[in-house]
Amino acid sequence: MAIEKVEIVEVSPRDGLQNEPEILSSVTKIALINRAIDCGFKRIEVASFVNPRRVPQMADAEAVVEALPQDNGVTYIGLALNERGAERALHTNIHEVGAVVCASDGFAMANQGQTSAQSADVANNIVAMTKSAGKAAQITISTAFGCPFDGPTNQDWVVELAAIVAQSKPREIALADTIGVATPFEVSALFEKVRAVVGEIPLRAHFHNTRNTGIANAYAAYQAGVRIIDASLGGLGGCPFAPNATGNIPTEDLVYMLSREGIDTGIDIDRMIETGLWLSEIMGRQLPAMLPRAGKFPA
Ligand code: ZN
Repeated sequence: MAIEKVEIVEVSPRDGLQNEPEILSSVTKIALINRAIDCGFKRIEVASFVNPRRVPQMADAEAVVEALPQDNGVTYIGLALNERGAERALHTNIHEVGAVVCASDGFAMANQGQTSAQSADVANNIVAMTKSAGKAAQITISTAFGCPFDGPTNQDWVVELAAIVAQSKPREIALADTIGVATPFEVSALFEKVRAVVGEIPLRAHFHNTRNTGIANAYAAYQAGVRIIDASLGGLGGCPFAPNATGNIPTEDLVYMLSREGIDTGIDIDRMIETGLWLSEIMGRQLPAMLPRAGKFPA
C-alpha cells in the first residue's frame, strides 16, 4: 500500500504573526521562514499584501519576499484581499497568491465593505489576474463555519460559494474556520459537500485552536479526504475577535498525530521542535504547541 502524504502549509509567518500584538523585524521574519524551510516545509504563507495602516504586522511584505531564497523547491504564498493587493503581490517574487472569500456578510462588510457574494467575485478576479501573470492562485473561504457578527455560517451557502469560486479554477480551495468555532462533526460534513461541487480541485483545511477543537478538526478533514492542511509553528497567533485565544493549530501537534499513523509530511520532527522553541524565545512566552513540552513518543 502506498504511503499516505499530507502537505502542511506553514502559516506562522503570516497568519501567526499577523495576529500577534508584537511586530517582529523583517530580519526575524526572514529567519523564521528560512528555519521553516530547513524543517522541510515546501509551501509557506509568508506575507499579506494588505493596507499597512490596518495591518502594521505585514507592512514589510515586499521586503520579506525579496529577501527569500529562490529555486529551492519552496512555494511562497502571499495573501491579497483585493485587486490592489494582488497587483502589489505580482510585483514581487511571490510564487502563489491566495485570495480570500468571506462566507458571511457580516465579516465581509467589516473587513472589505462588501457582501459575501461580492467577495467571491473579487477572489475570482484575483485568480484571473494572477494566472495571467503566470503564477499560481488559490482561494480560501473564510468564516466557513462561524462569524463573529452573524453566528453560525449557512453551510449551503458555503457549498454554493465553493462552486462559484471553482469557476476561476484556482489550484486549490480552502475552508477556513477563521474564529475557531468549528467541531469535527461539521468539518467532515462540510468538506464532503464541498468536494462534491468543486470537481478535481484539491481542498485545503485551515483551523484555529480557539476552542481546543483544532486537532480534532484536522483529523475530521483528513478522514473526509483532505490532504493539505494549514498549521503554524508553536500554534503562534491569536484571534482578533477573542483577545485571549490561541492561534492556528500547532504544526508540531499536527505532525505528531499524522506521523504516528505513518503519514508522510516531509517534516524533520526534531528540527521542527527546535524551531518552535526558538520561536517561543523570540515571542518571549511559551507557545501553545504541546509536543515540544511533552517530548516525542516513542522517544
Ligand atoms: Zn487563520
